[in-house]
Amino acid sequence: MLVRDILGKWRSSGRTAIIYKGGKISYRDLYEQCNYYHTLLQRTVTSDEARTNIGIFLPNSLDYAIAYFAVSLLGRIIVPIHVHAKLREMISTIDYCDVEWVITNCGHKSKLTGPLTGTGRLKIFDMDEYRKEPPYDRERETDEIGQAVPGQEENVAILLHTSGTTSYPKRVMLTHKNLLTNIRSNIHSLKLTEDDRTLISLPMSFGYCHTAQFLTHLYLGASIVIMDGIFTPHKFCQQVQEDKVTNFTAVPSFILSLLSYQNLSQYDLSSLRILCFGGGRMPAEKLQQLQKKLPHIGFVQTYGQTEASPRITCLLPGDSRSKAGSVGKPIPGVQVRIINTSGTDAAVGEVGEIIVKGDNVMKGYYKRPAETASVIRNGWLYTGDLARYDEEKYIYLVGRKKNIIISGGLNIYPEEIEELLLSHPAVKEVCVKGEENSLLGEVPVAYIVPKEGSPIREDQLKRFCIDQLDIHKVPRRVQLVKSLPKTHSGKVQRYAIKS
Ligand code: ATP
Repeated sequence: MLVRDILGKWRSSGRTAIIYKGGKISYRDLYEQCNYYHTLLQRTVTSDEARTNIGIFLPNSLDYAIAYFAVSLLGRIIVPIHVHAKLREMISTIDYCDVEWVITNCGHKSKLTGPLTGTGRLKIFDMDEYRKEPPYDRERETDEIGQAVPGQEENVAILLHTSGTTSYPKRVMLTHKNLLTNIRSNIHSLKLTEDDRTLISLPMSFGYCHTAQFLTHLYLGASIVIMDGIFTPHKFCQQVQEDKVTNFTAVPSFILSLLSYQNLSQYDLSSLRILCFGGGRMPAEKLQQLQKKLPHIGFVQTYGQTEASPRITCLLPGDSRSKAGSVGKPIPGVQVRIINTSGTDAAVGEVGEIIVKGDNVMKGYYKRPAETASVIRNGWLYTGDLARYDEEKYIYLVGRKKNIIISGGLNIYPEEIEELLLSHPAVKEVCVKGEENSLLGEVPVAYIVPKEGSPIREDQLKRFCIDQLDIHKVPRRVQLVKSLPKTHSGKVQRYAIKS
């Protein structure tokens, strides 16, 4: 279904689909390569009934895209496995997600061989063993891309992992219909066209990148530019300039690193139309500073979660100044309500939980029916995110239910304290957590990574908070740390911070 909509549509087009490591591949060649590997997989990958899902163990690359569509053509469920995952994490993913075969290449195979293949629990398909120059032989009589399979749109396409900021990542079942719905909503809300060119730097297996960039642009017949290796402001500027990139999507930390990049003005970034960010809080003050530096770019604040495929709302450039700090309004096809503790719609200004309905809402958590039932009720997805509306129905996130600190009976949203601390010029990263307290139940504690070379002291940061926060919100302790644990997508892994 998804493959037909994406690859089938553009199969004879000479337009550029992917730019990677300086090379370009057209839609026609991408289609041929996917077909080629699909045929090989059909011959090679025979699975026992129980473990039919197929893992992809590749970094962001052309191979990742080819493997993705080849597996999809096979009608199997894709299970991305992050190449920087620790062995323990890989084993649990492979077992939990019922994976017998993993697609990889020779550059990454060694991490899988030995402990995993030795026991016979895992079989490897090494793309390099079959590498071939075009033309690729297709040895197939039928063109499966051209054939629709009834009912297929309700099938699960992929098991995407959540980021794992509040607990261990969960695997989210997204159907073809979920993905297509979110793809179409993205196109409408951001007015994307086939002339767009997006730069990919987040992991392609991470919700925001997977759907909003990778699939959305290939569905459109537009182009994706894949950054080789990790994000740096230098690589970003160079690739935007060289490849005439028109849009970019990232977590706030990537975008904020542009602010302190000295050489920003030396590059021609005029092709860049939109910069999207989401997945975490963006301090409004820093955003304004960046807007001043890059006045021709439209900044789009987005909000979503993997369970919603992932996008739910966005604040478009036209509103970014008048509604600073808001995550905007629902994108087309997505219904949003904010409900209070009595289960009714919250009044203007009242804090409540965001609930979401639409064809973008996941089928459920893989093999976790009880957890699924606790978040999807009467067709609504309970996001666990707390927010309020303004008079014009713009949404402002307040915090996350799971993160609330209850201190002496009062609710404290750590996100509010984090935003304040991030506005301090000496603070690079911050995480505020609750710490047990015999008198108050819990008290907030701030873990702060100072900017390189900054002589800032803990007592100065505490004073900064005392001056600006209600006393119960002032962190009881401010602790300077070298780094904070992060998820593969660059978000702070709150639950992993130990005091
Ligand atoms: P886990 O559920 O495993 O703890 P996660 O929720 O971080 O991980 P994601 O699906 O990547 O996994 O993130 C979704 C969450 O990120 C949202 O529920 C919300 O709390 C937060 N978020 C998303 N967009 C924004 C935003 N623009 N501003 C602030 N927070 C955001």
